Amino acid sequence: MKKRFVLLLITIILLLPLISCVSKTNTNASIKNIQLTNVKKVLNENYQAKIIDKKSIIETLTSDEFEGRAIGSNGNKLTEEYIDKLFRDIGLNSLFNNGYKHKYNTTSNNIVGKIDGKSNNAIIISAHFDHIGYQDGKIIKGAIDNASGVSVLLEVAEILKNTYSLENPEFDIVFAAFNGEESGRMGSSKFVHDIIGKYDNLIDINIDSVGYINGGKITFLNNKGYNNLNKFMKESLENNGLEVTLDNKILGRSDSDSFKRPEMKSICIIEENIKEVIHSEKDTSDVVDYSKLDKISNSIIELVENITYAD
Ligand SMILES: [Zn+2]
Repeated sequence: MKKRFVLLLITIILLLPLISCVSKTNTNASIKNIQLTNVKKVLNENYQAKIIDKKSIIETLTSDEFEGRAIGSNGNKLTEEYIDKLFRDIGLNSLFNNGYKHKYNTTSNNIVGKIDGKSNNAIIISAHFDHIGYQDGKIIKGAIDNASGVSVLLEVAEILKNTYSLENPEFDIVFAAFNGEESGRMGSSKFVHDIIGKYDNLIDINIDSVGYINGGKITFLNNKGYNNLNKFMKESLENNGLEVTLDNKILGRSDSDSFKRPEMKSICIIEENIKEVIHSEKDTSDVVDYSKLDKISNSIIELVENITYAD
């Protein structure tokens, strides 16, 4: 009896640091749960994008003049100016000091804007605009990787800006067009570095390589587990007629990786068959399925309109 008691005591003592460690992680490291809500909000619904036309954006970004948008190139600079102007036309506010340009090294900028919300939480919609430029003397256009993602980001920005023209959203909605993804996610790393401490909780929905005619099902990059964000994104995509698989077949890196912090949650929307087209001459505007992009846009808009942070 006594021996058993001592054993029990030793076990408890051994487990104590573990128990306190676990509870510590839970309180410090958990973003609040996200929920979908059916509460009727004051929304200016059924707005159709007037400024943003996804086809003309993809055709511009993949034109010869934009040179495949590699960082350090004139085409990359043109892309910065082009997105900056569209953010201004849409009427987004700036997140950092002046304007939308967020410098991450001596030559290159992310382009960042936002819709002001009522709380200290944020939802970020992100997509990288840079690409790899020339390969064997030929321009690699990067329509699927990731002009299509940028076109969706811009359309979502215009529509949500109008949706919330009557009443501000519950949280900031940030639109981050990242540069330098193809060079080690430099733009998004600096972005995350610069917003640490700015928000209590944030969610990032990153779009990278979608709308390929042979892309197959939508999936989430490096999808591990089945958290709320995966669940709600999947539901929203399916509600809009898209097929989604949570099979973890696509492995790789994207800007969503830069958001791996306790107070942040991120997801990257991608398609299961993109490996056959990206970083190749085949990645042109001819292989874009615009009806799929419409559905992805609608899914993200619906998710943003229906998501809330729960206590
Ligand atoms: Zn990409």
